[in-house]
Amino acid sequence: MKILVKDADIFNGKEFIGNGLIAIEDGTIIHCGSGSLPDLWKPDEIIDGNRLLALPGLINCHTHAGMTFTRGYADDRPLMIWLNDYIWPLEARLTADDIYWGTMLGISEMLASGTTTFADMYFMMHRAAEAVKESGIRAVLSTGMIGLGSGVNEKLAQSVDFAVNWRGEADGRISTMLAPHAPYTCPPPFMKKVLDKAEKHQLPLHIHLAETRNEIEEIEKNYGKTPIEWANDLGVFNHPTLAAHCVHLSSEDMHILKEKGVGVAYNPQSNMKLASGTAPVAELSRLGVKVGFGTDGPGSNNSLDMFFEMKAGALLQKLAVNRAEVLPANEVLAMATSTGADILGLKDVGMLKKGMKADLILVDMDKPHFTPTFDPIAHMVYSGKGSDVSFTIVNGKILYEKGVFRTIDVEEVKQEVHIRAKRLIKG
Ligand SMILES: [Zn+2]
Repeated sequence: MKILVKDADIFNGKEFIGNGLIAIEDGTIIHCGSGSLPDLWKPDEIIDGNRLLALPGLINCHTHAGMTFTRGYADDRPLMIWLNDYIWPLEARLTADDIYWGTMLGISEMLASGTTTFADMYFMMHRAAEAVKESGIRAVLSTGMIGLGSGVNEKLAQSVDFAVNWRGEADGRISTMLAPHAPYTCPPPFMKKVLDKAEKHQLPLHIHLAETRNEIEEIEKNYGKTPIEWANDLGVFNHPTLAAHCVHLSSEDMHILKEKGVGVAYNPQSNMKLASGTAPVAELSRLGVKVGFGTDGPGSNNSLDMFFEMKAGALLQKLAVNRAEVLPANEVLAMATSTGADILGLKDVGMLKKGMKADLILVDMDKPHFTPTFDPIAHMVYSGKGSDVSFTIVNGKILYEKGVFRTIDVEEVKQEVHIRAKRLIKG
């Protein structure tokens, strides 16, 4: 399959190119920028890029897509009450089919708002993987593991089986990680077993760390250290690690993250909604820690729109440190694209250049809120929204075009989720 995007403005992840060409063949970008293509190269499909801006697809570094069932359910409550009294009881009733439909709804929302890759941590992930495979999106999947109670070893074995069996599937669009949920749900003996498996199977780790003040107090009380020190002392960071949140950090914690090359998923809207706090991203960025954006699950956001996340995340940092110049738009857009790919361990997405996988979006710039267009990059961060996305292309396939999904029957997906959500809430 050959696709040509012509006459589009391009932000390739580094620089802006006016009126360029993007040629895609068999899932890969074979040309991006100005210049021309060989006469013999004939595309199967041509996209007129006039008044469109091409960008690398957005990368959501931390979510729980199956939590679409909890969107709008039990809002405006503190984290532990929200989890203990509402979310965990509902999640205990989820079936494998629910996971499939809930994830497919999340994928629909992501594709329609310009996300081409997401990092997911949830349950019964083989069904989430099927939704990824069928829809055409790219994903880094992991089974969230709680290391307390009975059946812990079986759950770890299942999680490892999933990670080993599904990595590289769906034409290479699926990669996998191991996901111990958090320090307060995974005691050290369990963590040691997880790390042994990570070592044996060469799997990266995905974990929630330092999300709330409660967590800081609990880990300090039980272990006499911060969550980051706890993870570092256990050897977690000797493996490639994706650490979600990192809201409450000491300066020593930040140096550990930098020294160990830990990737941080910044989830500003979830952190604001649950009143968890403000991650010190401006300082992390100054130190050279790699930070990408995550939406967290649709229960605590309640949207999977990465445009909202970029804007909220940039504004929150400016307010937190009282300096308008921190986290400028180009840096924010890089966090949501190339840095996001980097911290997920994906080498061939996040930039638009020859040889990279063709994961890109085309944003409709012909809108009142993008006029005038002094700085299209700033527009993406401060004026844009998911609904401005006209085309979403993953692995060289057009998955979404102007409100139409090419791989998903979105009416069926919405109907399934409506019916299943009613059952889940009744108990
Ligand atoms: Zn999370």
